[in-house]
Amino acid sequence: MTSQGPFQVALRRTTSVILLFVGITQQAFAWGVDGHHMINRLAGMNLPNDVPGFLKTPEGLDALEYYAPEPDHWRGRGEPQLANESSPDHFIALERASLLGELPRNRYDYVRALASLQTSHPDLPLSVERVGTQPYQTVEMYERLKSAMRDYRALVALKRDTKPLEAEIVFLAGILGHYVGDGSMPLHTSIYPNGWTGPNPNGYTAEHHIHALFESAFVGANVGIDDVASLVQAEKPKVLGDVFEDYLSYLRHSNTLVEETYRLEKVGAFTGKGMPEGKKFAEERLAAGAIELRDIIYTAWVRSADPLPAREAPPTR
Ligand SMILES: [Zn+2]
Repeated sequence: MTSQGPFQVALRRTTSVILLFVGITQQAFAWGVDGHHMINRLAGMNLPNDVPGFLKTPEGLDALEYYAPEPDHWRGRGEPQLANESSPDHFIALERASLLGELPRNRYDYVRALASLQTSHPDLPLSVERVGTQPYQTVEMYERLKSAMRDYRALVALKRDTKPLEAEIVFLAGILGHYVGDGSMPLHTSIYPNGWTGPNPNGYTAEHHIHALFESAFVGANVGIDDVASLVQAEKPKVLGDVFEDYLSYLRHSNTLVEETYRLEKVGAFTGKGMPEGKKFAEERLAAGAIELRDIIYTAWVRSADPLPAREAPPTR
């Protein structure tokens, strides 16, 4: 062993400070890194065998896992404009969004609908930054993935090199996985993202710790990928019909579990080693994320073979 000079010692100290900082900032992010990694890897592992093989190689799965937490890095302090634009993509406060009735299918129609709703509810925080854009981001990522997969099919037919497209597809699927993963965490679908507010007859925590406690500290310390794997395998892969509608149902189901998340926190199910019901709850939520992601990726692959819709006729003057 060589002795360490002042430079190495300084470097080691700096590295520890950086790692400590990364650890702290990740507390505030969606599912901790462990949860996001699990969701992406399990989705990839459980894709049916008729998807292109590169998605399921060890390198493909490693990359899928690697990209899982990436969108959280886009909403840090270092890139303020990107953070401002992209932060609403990680959540949707369904209790508020549902005031719109049926959600518009397109992002900008939704933004306009919220603005118009604000005029009739001046007392509620209804800006797009406060209500969130989760399902729009997810479906737009699905469509990016489907587009790349369509290009991949074309290159294969032409017997051209597909390597750059393979990298693009794995990247897009990995980023998609982040948002789908966020959607399985109940507090990402709610007006109570991190502490109860307003009337509180059941005495749920109003402190700002439940979010990171559940998704980062508890999952990181108590839930392993093998615990979740069997739940994902138990659900057969399927091709989704209307991806937007399916994804909204997935978010609405997640939203029905908001109060249960608070109840479990209250009884100590996520504290330290937690309780079996807390562990089961976390495993089911992680599995739900992996299942939805697997099915969306699979649907993108199957639907990427569809012929493009016919061009609309130009408007007559
Ligand atoms: Zn997120």
